[in-house]
Amino acid sequence: MTIHIALCDDHQIIREGLRSLLEKQSDMMVVGEGVNGLEAIKLAKEKKPDIMVIDIAMPELNGIAAAKRISTEFPKIKILALSMHSDHHFVTEMLEAGAAGYMLKDSAFPELANAIRTIMAGGLFISPRIAGNVLEEFAHRSNPKIKTHHRIELSPREKEILQMIAEGKSSKDIAAVMVISVKTVETHRQHLMNKVGAHNVATLTKYAIREGLTSLEE
Ligand SMILES: [Mg+2]
Repeated sequence: MTIHIALCDDHQIIREGLRSLLEKQSDMMVVGEGVNGLEAIKLAKEKKPDIMVIDIAMPELNGIAAAKRISTEFPKIKILALSMHSDHHFVTEMLEAGAAGYMLKDSAFPELANAIRTIMAGGLFISPRIAGNVLEEFAHRSNPKIKTHHRIELSPREKEILQMIAEGKSSKDIAAVMVISVKTVETHRQHLMNKVGAHNVATLTKYAIREGLTSLEE
């Protein structure tokens, strides 16, 4: 039986590379390509593929939103997320959206063919490099006492300060709001940088956005 595959990625070279490699497999055929989430939904409807390989970061509609729609409207279609993001938020969101697999873009091709066959056989596939994090995340949800190692634990005070830094407040502003000395704020700031592994405010801000401590909109 031939596995019918649809590829969705906003980068042409990725789609072309994947297509030529997949078509060398005797049991696989690429039936369509899309460049964004909207095209992914259209492909699901029109081509009825067995499995869709879907990138996360795509214009118009991202891969997570597209996966949600596809798995609701076309529950028979399997979804394999293909992304450069190893961040646990993306992985768990994609799995919650209905994906049966999550593969990192730095994987070697045999891993992709293996992932597709595993999912088609009714299994799940997660890139080995992130599998541990995903297990920890789900274990942590069912039992919060289970510590997740990849997660950086910030104290409530550190979270507050991080949010204010991300919102562009100076150490002086933060000190005034929190009624602490500027020196104490500076100490917290240094601890935050160390914990997050950030060397500047931009990285710290990115982390705050990812953790949902501050939004991109004002
Ligand atoms: Mg992309």
